Amino acid sequence: MAAVTQLHAPWAWVDGRWQPDVLLGIDASGHWSEVSANQALPAGAVQLPGPVLPGLVNAHSHAFQRAFAGLTERSDGPQTCREASGPPGGTNPLGSGPSRIPESGRDNFWSWRERMYALALRVTPAQLRAIATQLYAELLRGGYTQVCEFHYLHHREDGSAYDDELEMAWALADAAAEVGIGLTLLPVLYARSGFGAAGLRPEQRRFKTDAAWVWAAQQRLNAARRPLLNAGVALHSLRGASAQDIRALTDLVGGADLPIHIHIAEQTAEIEACVAHTGLRPMQWLCAEHALDARWQLVHATHSTPAEIAAVAASGAGVVICPSTEANLGDGLADLPGWLAAGVPMAIGSDSHATRSASEELRWLEYGQRLTLRQRNVAADPPAQSAPAARLFNAAVAAGGPAAGLASWGLVRGARADLLVLDPAADAQLGVSPMHRLDAWVFSADAASAVPREVWVAGRRVVAAGRVVGPDAQAPWGRDRAAAAFAEALAALS
Ligand SMILES: [Zn+2]
Repeated sequence: MAAVTQLHAPWAWVDGRWQPDVLLGIDASGHWSEVSANQALPAGAVQLPGPVLPGLVNAHSHAFQRAFAGLTERSDGPQTCREASGPPGGTNPLGSGPSRIPESGRDNFWSWRERMYALALRVTPAQLRAIATQLYAELLRGGYTQVCEFHYLHHREDGSAYDDELEMAWALADAAAEVGIGLTLLPVLYARSGFGAAGLRPEQRRFKTDAAWVWAAQQRLNAARRPLLNAGVALHSLRGASAQDIRALTDLVGGADLPIHIHIAEQTAEIEACVAHTGLRPMQWLCAEHALDARWQLVHATHSTPAEIAAVAASGAGVVICPSTEANLGDGLADLPGWLAAGVPMAIGSDSHATRSASEELRWLEYGQRLTLRQRNVAADPPAQSAPAARLFNAAVAAGGPAAGLASWGLVRGARADLLVLDPAADAQLGVSPMHRLDAWVFSADAASAVPREVWVAGRRVVAAGRVVGPDAQAPWGRDRAAAAFAEALAALS
């Protein structure tokens, strides 16, 4: 089949709003050569079967954690997690900060993390490939066409290096290529278990890296020149990398144009530990010590002060909010009105993959605020006549490109030819006027009705009639084999 070079949409989300009769030209490299509204359907163009949205970037993912989504929702009863008492004979791995770091007797982030480590210690490359293939197919159906992997599961189960040190990274790349989603790999610098700690804990042995390792990994991943694959770098967190580690990596990166991600302020305990060790809160410290810019992505900017928001806004850095995971792990609620008012780029991510739906992340971004502020339409911007769904969606589109290290993103000339076609026959879209289709997608669609009818990545249709068909039109991807491999991996791991 000859490559499709022109698409036509009855409605498409162009320049942040619905516009009618949009003609979309695709060039030989799979990018938009033309995006024009109010155009008649030309002969030979493919008519898309519904209203069209830009694809979204999932800016924060740990693919392996998909393997226990839904499986940590029971309490083991009163417990004292390792964090509470510290490792045997050692100090608290978060550092010597306040003693109330974990709340013993309750399930919280830190007790969840112990369970996550138990899984992380056992995943093989083949299992990671199976888990990621299932996940990435789900992400395409969830409205994402690019995913950023904050990747720290590098080494063998005993902590030694694989023959190819990027074995686990290639498993992720192969999974993404199989289903046809774009992938930004972010090898993570993870060198210590907490502020003031000399190294990692034994159960973190698969994560151990230094700046040189991360930089070499980034270079190799980019040099592979695989389609739809690029690479940036990541720092696990301020507790996971020392000031010297961070400086070493930023020196290696220099002015290179690639994304730099970091977990910044997810848990109040790590903020207290950061203050205890540095005298500053995490965002305060990072903004004071480093000249941040638009390459930097602060993941889980959950706990912030107005001064920190102002400092991040002045730096040009972006934030990545992961509402479903932040809710699932009991992290807390980001200051959405504060970040929006400051104009800080805000991407979304599904992180631990408690959910895989972009519309659900956007919905919870707004609903968290409604619940705590007891208001409606918190993210609305009346002067701009922007409804919450439109404002949050536009924010996610605008911030997604930089988070993934892609120069342009969305339905604009030069960006990769990615799109979603909403299903006009889906329950949530029945009878909805064109101007309310995005609101319905975010606020009224259940999981089934939110699935796009089609998803295109780089000018190829990878989801058709709501099913993932993958990038090869000659050999459509089938869910059954991948689903069986995923279930087998889970059975082996559980
Ligand atoms: Zn994370």
